[in-house]
Amino acid sequence: MLSWDESASPTPARPPAAPQSASVFDYTPEAAAPTAAPAVDTTQRVSAADKRIINGHTDVNQLVPFKYKWAWDKYLAGCANHWMPQEINMQRDIELWKNPNGLTDDERRLVKRNLGFFVTADSLAANNIVLGTYRHITAPECRQYLLRQAFEEAIHTHAYQYIVESLGLDEAEIFNAYHEVKSIRDKDEFLIPFINTLTDPEFKTGTTENDQKLLKSLIVFACIMEGLFFYVGFTQILALGRQNKMMGAAEQYQYILRDESMHCNFGIDLINTIKMENPHLWTQAFRDEIKALFLSAVELEYRYAEDTMPRGVLGLNATMFKGYLRFIANRRAQQIGLDQMFPQEENPFPWMSEMIDLKKERNFFETRVIEYQTGGALNWE
Ligand code: FE
Repeated sequence: MLSWDESASPTPARPPAAPQSASVFDYTPEAAAPTAAPAVDTTQRVSAADKRIINGHTDVNQLVPFKYKWAWDKYLAGCANHWMPQEINMQRDIELWKNPNGLTDDERRLVKRNLGFFVTADSLAANNIVLGTYRHITAPECRQYLLRQAFEEAIHTHAYQYIVESLGLDEAEIFNAYHEVKSIRDKDEFLIPFINTLTDPEFKTGTTENDQKLLKSLIVFACIMEGLFFYVGFTQILALGRQNKMMGAAEQYQYILRDESMHCNFGIDLINTIKMENPHLWTQAFRDEIKALFLSAVELEYRYAEDTMPRGVLGLNATMFKGYLRFIANRRAQQIGLDQMFPQEENPFPWMSEMIDLKKERNFFETRVIEYQTGGALNWE
């Protein structure tokens, strides 16, 4: 039987005792005698009025006092919308995909192209936030939302991966589409310089030139990437769901669309507040540059629509998307205070607005099999 025998293990020689000196740990009645408390300097405390979205000098670790309540409210709304991809049953999608007569070739092309764009798009978005945007934003309420958004981008990448895996698609083909499929590569090549600006470790805000670069990247990211480049893809998959096809994938996309519309709205609030705090950035030349970017983006997204739908499919065709993209571009431009670029464009897909307004308790496709579980799911036994 093992027993502890002190004599068996030689104790190392103790160092000579240090001379005793008074320390905060020495308690004597004399030390406890009342003395005047040193004055606390409260002049350095954060005041909401001093906070700024960019180039702020207040402590970024202090969330309160709140100044940008809209950012905090969106953080709370994002948390309330929490969902996970594996909550959605993919069984009917799998059966339909494996059935040789389940979908037409054009429908299969549309699904594969769609995933080809999205499997990497949300990784680009996450990198842009974590390695770029976050560093340059000095309002802690906005940083708090960006942290939530970054996690949502991870959930979206997870959702697309989950669909690819469930359907047994060729992972290498789908995950390399952004290198190998021109219509997808062109969209990403348009975005990458703007992401690179923010993720460059040498890039610092604080000059008009750099602050405009930051603002431009934020506009490209929120209004063009999340606000425009996602919409052909979302509409296509939701159109499949409306015809009772790929309903698990469509439900995933519906949750993603809800998150993305929040990302886009947060980005727009962020942009408008930066404009308000820094009106000198919003020059005519700058606005012209943004307008030109919108026009190129509409063209790129239209080419993507043509590539994903060489013929009419699901009652949709590329020409309808030309109108839809112009309608969205007008809306995004107006949301950041620019004039419409394509006056009198109407929304050819009014049903898409209902999709964005999804409430968690109103489950459009009713395929959800697992309720989201909060702390109640934890088992401490
Ligand atoms: Fe996003």
